[in-house]
Amino acid sequence: AHLDRIAAVDTEVHAFLHVDGERALEAARAVDAKVAAGEPVGPLAGVPLGLKDVLTMQGAPTTCGSRILQGWYPPYDATVTTRLLQAGLVVLGKTNMDEFAMGSSTENSAYGPTRNPWDTSRIPGGSGGGSSAALAAFEAPLTIGTDTGGSIRQPAAVTGTVGVKPTYGGTSRYGLVALASSLDQPGPCARTVLDAALLHQVIGGHDPRDSTSIDAPVPDVVAAARSGDVRGLRVGVVRELGGEGYQPGVTQRFTEAVELLSSLGAEVVEVSCPSFEQALAAYYLILPSEASSNLAKFDAMRFGLRVGDDGSHSAEEVMNLTREAGFGDEVKRRIIIGTYALSSGYYDAYYGSAQKVRTLIVRDFQAAFETVDVLVSPTTPTTAWPLGERVDDPLAMYAADLCTIPSNLAGNASASFPVGLSPEDGLPVGLQVMAPPMADDRLYLVGAALE
Ligand code: GLN
Repeated sequence: AHLDRIAAVDTEVHAFLHVDGERALEAARAVDAKVAAGEPVGPLAGVPLGLKDVLTMQGAPTTCGSRILQGWYPPYDATVTTRLLQAGLVVLGKTNMDEFAMGSSTENSAYGPTRNPWDTSRIPGGSGGGSSAALAAFEAPLTIGTDTGGSIRQPAAVTGTVGVKPTYGGTSRYGLVALASSLDQPGPCARTVLDAALLHQVIGGHDPRDSTSIDAPVPDVVAAARSGDVRGLRVGVVRELGGEGYQPGVTQRFTEAVELLSSLGAEVVEVSCPSFEQALAAYYLILPSEASSNLAKFDAMRFGLRVGDDGSHSAEEVMNLTREAGFGDEVKRRIIIGTYALSSGYYDAYYGSAQKVRTLIVRDFQAAFETVDVLVSPTTPTTAWPLGERVDDPLAMYAADLCTIPSNLAGNASASFPVGLSPEDGLPVGLQVMAPPMADDRLYLVGAALE
């Protein structure tokens, strides 16, 4: 049924970059056979899923939405992929994304944008717009996203779906093509809170292949998603993430959701996190710095595309020609910014200062979590904007990440849950919940209360 749905709507939505129906059906039949034989299967066995095209899976291409990886077949599975396959989930294919996960609209994909199923003239968010649009268009009940600055949560918000960025180290980055290694985190995307929790349980947990993986059990996200009991939960509304610059319809739905939590017994207070105002600036130095280093490996020798390899060019020329042709504008912009910020003489002024701001943000969170259990804000200042509106204005594009970035810089658990449609334009609005590291279960408690 899901393959039929993809065939019917994906020409328009373009959530998928690659679909392998035969492999999916084979995997589904294998689960059927197990069930018929009375063998035990996991709770999500046989459930179809879309995998963001930044995670590797053997036998399928991994492009990261980039021309430079066109035709590259990875020789190994990401840990997330391994766990999905072992649990019997049926991978339908790879979902579209901004090139190397840089963007907030999926318009930076070298393979064309994804469209928002609520209004196909609008963006589905980014960088994981494919994963969220696939859910909203009923092309898959579950998808995997990755979140470096909001790429799970912001697409979830603008497509009316659930997206969770686990605690940094809570899910494995092994086999996730790195954007910014200190910020990247894979996580579950779904249409319901319980579905996301079940998926979180499957992919989460310690992985010795990821040196930053936390060696502790996955918090009991499934129990929290089943409970939704927020009585006595202390909820802090972040003063700096709201007000001016936020669409009134977003503010209205957010405020109503907070009132609902209060009526369900949560204790709501306002909390100030003054350093959050510098988070965007710090992020857009730290991320390009790490990205410029991580993307140095695409040298035309090891992976994918190779341009000018006709005997008339030196290895260095081939590398330059390949990177010129293989990377899009946003990727080049960030490589240049990152290389500059890391260069000697500028390092302290830019990268060094940004790291200090990062510490201040961590401290703001720590201080806040002494008085409250979770923090909340709108996920993103606006609803989905028209395709094309921000493509020539990187700063406007970056502003979509205003609320989501602090959690990546601090490594916290954070999620976006749908809280209705904006009365202004009828488009979905998301509420963001932020919890201390390894308190991911609290996200689901709030999400379930709001559902
Ligand atoms: N919009 C952010 C960026 O462009 C989000 C990145 C991400 O989470 N992958 O950097």
